[in-house]
Order: sequence, then C-alpha cells, then structure tokens
Amino acid sequence: MSNKTLGIIGGGQLGMFICIAARKVGLKTLVYSQEENFSARKFCDKHIIGNIKSKEKIEEFIEDSDFCTVETENIHKDILRMIEKRKNLFPSSNIIEISQNRLLEKNFLNSLENIETTKFFEVNNFKDLKESAKNLNYNCILKTQEFGYDGKGQSTVKKENLCQFENQILQNCIIEEKVNFKLEISVIVARNSSNMIVYPPVKNIHKESILRETIFPAKIDNHLKQSAIEKAIYISENLDLNGILAVEMFITNDDQILINELAPRPHNSGHWTMDACKFSQFDNLVSIINCNEVYEPEPYRNCKMINIIGEEYMSLKKMKNNYKTYDYFKKNIKSNRKMGHYVLFE
Ligand code: AMP
Repeated sequence: MSNKTLGIIGGGQLGMFICIAARKVGLKTLVYSQEENFSARKFCDKHIIGNIKSKEKIEEFIEDSDFCTVETENIHKDILRMIEKRKNLFPSSNIIEISQNRLLEKNFLNSLENIETTKFFEVNNFKDLKESAKNLNYNCILKTQEFGYDGKGQSTVKKENLCQFENQILQNCIIEEKVNFKLEISVIVARNSSNMIVYPPVKNIHKESILRETIFPAKIDNHLKQSAIEKAIYISENLDLNGILAVEMFITNDDQILINELAPRPHNSGHWTMDACKFSQFDNLVSIINCNEVYEPEPYRNCKMINIIGEEYMSLKKMKNNYKTYDYFKKNIKSNRKMGHYVLFE
C-alpha cells in the first residue's frame, strides 16, 4: 500500500476513472473540483472544491499531493506552472499549454516532418475571417483557439452566413478547412522517459461534433495503421511526453492522414481499453506516475464503446442487464452532456 497521494485537477468521468485505477494499486487520490457534485466524488480519498483560478486553494492542493495530473487541458498556464514548480506534473505544463491552444497546437504539428493538419488561418477580426474564408472556398469551420470541446466554440462558415459574424468578437480564433474525410481515428500513446506503448488505432464516429462511438479495432489497411501509429509516436517523442497523449486523426478519401487534435490525458476514445485490454489507458497513466512503469495494453477482444448523451441517460437502467454500462453520476441531465457509456463485445 502506497502512502502517496495523486492530485487530479478535475473530477469529471476522466478524473473518476483515474481514481478507480489509482485505488487498484493502493494510491490515494485528491481531486480538485470546481463543482460540489462531481463524478469522482465517491471514488477519491479527498477533495478540494474551489475555483480553478484560486491560487490559495491550488496551493492547498499542491501541498497535499505528491504528484499531479489533469483530466482536462483547459487550465490556465499560471496554475500549471505553479503546480509544476513544486510537484511532478504528468504530462508537463509545456505539453498541456500546446494542446490547449489550437493555434499553438497546429503550428507545433506542422513544424514536424511528415505531419500535417487541415489548412488553417489565424482569425482576430472580421477582415481576417472574410479573407481566410474566401481562401478556403467558404468550406470552413471557425473555432475559438482555447476552451473548446465537444463542438463548443465552433461554427460553420459559408458565403451565405458570413455577414452574421460581422458584429461578433472574433479575437483569438482560427478558421480551418472542412475536411471531407472518410474516417476519423485516434491513437493513444503512453510514454515515460525510457519506454512507450501504443493502443492500436480505433475508429471514431461523431455526431454534431460529439463522439458517439468508438470501434476497436479500426478496420483500416495495414500501411495506414502503421503510418497512424508512427505519427502518434513521432509527435509524442517530439513533445517528450511523460504520461498519456491521444492523437485524433482524419483519414481523407485519398488516404492522407491529417492530425485534428491532441489531448494530453486519457481520452473518451480510450474508454474501451478498460474492458478489452489487460492495461487500460488509466492503468498506464497511474503506473507512469506512481512507479515509472509502462505496460503493453494487450488487447484481448474486439468491442464498440457507445456514449450515453443527454436524455439517453433515462435508458441506462434498462441497459444494465444486457451491456457493460458506466454511469458518470452527473447531477443533472443536459443535452449534449456525456452521462455515461456502454460497451458491446464482438
Ligand atoms: P474538434 O473539437 O476540433 O476535435 O472537433 C470535433 C469534431 O468535429 C471532430 O472530431 C470532427 O468530427 C468535426 N470536425 C472538427 N474540425 C473539422 C474539420 N476541419 N473538418 C471536418 N470535420 C471537423
């Protein structure tokens, strides 16, 4: 039994699954949550409720943690650096800062050899938007650079709706070409300074920009599979990853791989690993933090993970008899909110 405490910023479902993995190896957990009611509440050993910008409460969190991790990249730089100054942070603040800003992230990715993203432009005002939308043949998506997730902070831009943005604040946005992809996949890497493993590519199906289904394995031909894995490894090495990184990718009709996004933490498209691998993404994160060990995932069955979103939660109880279900214990049902998930096996 370890006497150490893992501090986790965020107590949503990802924080909850990190707590469960930590408990399996006897590691204590301290969750920092902005809300009184949070998914991880009954799975953590201690918690602190506070605003994410409250330096006083964060000081208390740092003091009581032996090492720290995050369940979201949307944490202010000053707070990340405050933590990293005193305790080991997994992954490093540098990686979180790159992946929390779409412009930094895309510039970083495009600076790497053989790594490409969709075409994009920085937008800070309506003039930028008009020029770049024209450049992209009006087939594009406007996104905030920071604090966007599950399609929040995103709008489709067309010639016909351009004028509706004229009076909007457009500072710190990017506009990117809408990719006509044939498939979305993701690859999750777990890495420490001496070792690295990769969870094989999975197929992701989104509706209205929210992940609905993840299918393991992605049925893609071998050279695409290898290329996706190599790209995820190459990106992780260039970030000097210490922890978990999910790399989201588009596969275009001519089999080009474009990197969509990076998530420097366990990812929704990796939830299947809890039911079909010997070591899940959460087990590997905890093990890297706790004992600097990385384990081969050893997947042992094919499966499909399906998110339960908003009102669909009402049918979760009925599903329990037939499927492996997970409840995220959210206080209120909100449309577009991830409430739980279930897993089907082949
Ligand atoms: P994001 O938050 O940027 O990962 O966007 C969420 C989802 O919206 C993606 O997984 C895609 O399904 C869709 N999406 C985002 N950006 C694009 C794009 N440039 N082209 C096509 N689909 C996109």
